[in-house]
Amino acid sequence: MIYSEKVMEHFANPRNVGEIENADGVGEVGNAKCGDIMKMYLKIDDGIITDVKFKTFGCGAAVATSSMATELIKGKPIEDALKLTNKAVVEALDGLPTVKLHCSVLAEQAIKAALADYYTRQGVDPEPYVGKLSDEEPSCGI
Ligand SMILES: [Zn+2]
Repeated sequence: MIYSEKVMEHFANPRNVGEIENADGVGEVGNAKCGDIMKMYLKIDDGIITDVKFKTFGCGAAVATSSMATELIKGKPIEDALKLTNKAVVEALDGLPTVKLHCSVLAEQAIKAALADYYTRQGVDPEPYVGKLSDEEPSCGI
């Protein structure tokens, strides 16, 4: 399996690792088959994601995609984070081996879960914004 240089770099030096105390939204998603678990913390001020941290227990691709995803949404409005797709994350990483694409799906889902948590805490129904969060686990290619 061949990872791009960017994937290797983010895996070796993941950005925004950790947790945020008093986070405004927390999302956790997992893939039981692959064993990847991702927890995303968001700090949101005035509709802007001012800080984001994550914890991932998983393979190199899971770590790299989480790291890249946090870089892509940090300092951005919520609307931009909602539009972030796993495809955009994978493109920013110069691609992922096909069998590892499910890990990038996890990063997108973790962000959406954290935003859903944020809306719920505000007393807002998250579904019109975040969409239905599927319980279906992304299929593991291995
Ligand atoms: Zn994985």
